[in-house]
Amino acid sequence: MQPQPSEDEFIKGFLERLSNQERCSRCRDWFAPVYRRGLCGQCYRTDSRIARLERSIGAIEKSGGRVDYATEFDLRIAYKKRELQQLDGEVYSPKLAGPTDPVELEESLREAFRRFTGRDRFTGWANILGEALPPQQRKFVYFLLSSMLREHDRKFLRRRAAHKVVLGR
Ligand SMILES: [Zn+2]
Repeated sequence: MQPQPSEDEFIKGFLERLSNQERCSRCRDWFAPVYRRGLCGQCYRTDSRIARLERSIGAIEKSGGRVDYATEFDLRIAYKKRELQQLDGEVYSPKLAGPTDPVELEESLREAFRRFTGRDRFTGWANILGEALPPQQRKFVYFLLSSMLREHDRKFLRRRAAHKVVLGR
């Protein structure tokens, strides 16, 4: 009979499998399936849009016409989306494998609470979280919270990109 793995081993194995599976080479989202050219559907569509806009702007410029503001703005947003996809991959992806510091867990919990309710709660909870949850369980809770935050970031990608373009960031 196989010995039952402990909860810790289960979490470790689960997250390892998740971090080793094939993911989008840009955003590294652990739930988005790879669609084409090693990218998920969202990253792939962003690239298609960039290519389309660059082509049409190129054609307008070639014919001596003036590119309208809306088209130019769309292209800037598309570039920003691509940049954010890359950045999200760099921010979230390594955390699947690494250890979870209670301070980081507190930050995610506060961020999730803030986005969901608009209020700030759980400030200074790092110690409580550290005491209440052993390291592997912290990691799993962190993974669940990150999944929510990440999906939210994905859903509002265009809005985030437009905001940054308008602010010139
Ligand atoms: Zn992607």
